[in-house]
Amino acid sequence: MVERVSGGRAKSFDTDAGEARSVRRASAPKAKSKFTKKTIALVYDFDGTLSPKPMQEYAFLPKIGVKAEDFWAECTRVAKAERADPLITYMHLMYKKAKEKGLRIDRKELVAQGRHVELYQGVEAWFGEIEGYVKAQRDSKGVTIKHYLVSSGLTEIIEGTKIYKNFANVFASEYWFDAYDLPFPKRVITDTGKTQYMFRINKGIEDLGESINSHMPEDARPIPFSNMIYFGDGDTDVPSMALLKKNGGHAIAVHTPKASADKCIGLFNAGRCDFYAPADYRKGSDLFKRTCLLLDRMLADIRVEEERAGLG
Ligand SMILES: [Mg+2]
Repeated sequence: MVERVSGGRAKSFDTDAGEARSVRRASAPKAKSKFTKKTIALVYDFDGTLSPKPMQEYAFLPKIGVKAEDFWAECTRVAKAERADPLITYMHLMYKKAKEKGLRIDRKELVAQGRHVELYQGVEAWFGEIEGYVKAQRDSKGVTIKHYLVSSGLTEIIEGTKIYKNFANVFASEYWFDAYDLPFPKRVITDTGKTQYMFRINKGIEDLGESINSHMPEDARPIPFSNMIYFGDGDTDVPSMALLKKNGGHAIAVHTPKASADKCIGLFNAGRCDFYAPADYRKGSDLFKRTCLLLDRMLADIRVEEERAGLG
């Protein structure tokens, strides 16, 4: 909101040449709106959303000679039997299995494995194309687009992918590599845990060393939920989609092109997402067009709020 000077008198002082200069200086920002909520955040899940398969399947599992379906089946079985968190279980089993094969995979090696991760068509160009689209719109003056990744996958593998440079921040699971005999999970991002990172983006507290829990009034939050679009592919994305949808934000579900859209239709019918589309990120695809529709609406909303702020 625009600052007011002593009981809303600033308006009349503005046009009065005889009034004290200090008053005019205090009210000067009025001419230029102080509206600051002009950052739009596009938040992506990784596995199944930007990449067809879980990221561990491209290099880690082949390297330790374990078949993907066997590995995930074992993760599910062990997690169930031990009542363990499924994500901690997969992080544990990866290195247990590597050790059994006499292999030690360090941070550098994981980053190098990121180069093998395949992406859906158009993903590499998507970030530039979306920014270009927004820039070309009439109401985009001062609007910034930021891309974020919130993934249960591994930070190091993502760091090695071709698209890492496009993200303002990446929140993903991570290891302590020198913890004990084997690497130990340092940060595990579960389905519901993903929402913490949505709040971090919302509140502008992206430094993971800082606590997220202290109260921050809506007005002070740099990226309102209504300025966010979440992209995901399945049940693990439900908490993030629900958080945004309940707070005026947006979500798009994607599915492998030419594969069944049933999961997406389920999410759509349950009100989890605004749209769904095949995970084809090329300009002109349904996904591109539907994302642009949401961006058009967000740009208009931003302009409306900006105009209103100038009247305060
Ligand atoms: Mg996924």
